[in-house]
Amino acid sequence: MRQVIAARFIVDHNVGKLAKWLRMMGYDTLFFNGSDDSGMIATALAEGRVLLTRDTQIVKRRLITTGRLKAILITSDEPELQLKQVIGALNLAINFRPFSLCLECNQPLVDRSKGQIKDRVPPYVFQTQEQYMECPSCHRIYWRGTHWQAMTKKFKRFMEYQGKEKF
Ligand SMILES: [Zn+2]
Repeated sequence: MRQVIAARFIVDHNVGKLAKWLRMMGYDTLFFNGSDDSGMIATALAEGRVLLTRDTQIVKRRLITTGRLKAILITSDEPELQLKQVIGALNLAINFRPFSLCLECNQPLVDRSKGQIKDRVPPYVFQTQEQYMECPSCHRIYWRGTHWQAMTKKFKRFMEYQGKEKF
């Protein structure tokens, strides 16, 4: 199977949910919330990002048809199927680093000790969790709670199916 060594993404507004999910999986992902398609394409090209969109017109552009810019035309309305399509198309398991990026600002998270985050998380979290991470940009604190476990399981399941299903 073809391998993409370091996939980075730019996500069009019409597939917005993919941005958070790809960040959850650890993929550097920009969310493009605007109507300036040319600006989005220029950013993708300049930063070497794979463009994800549902816009059939965008993928007809020469830059994309000639292969200079990699783009994936997302075919489903369903966010889960959209994510499966991306995982399958790029063999994403290779770079899987769940919860290493801030879901809001796409910044790499930094490890924090329990002492450093005391009084910044709810008491029940502080009592039950040992590992914490902080976003250096927005200062959100992340921990590996039940949501983390459920999402990691879901992503792994998607990756296991990869290659067994036709997208
Ligand atoms: Zn942040």
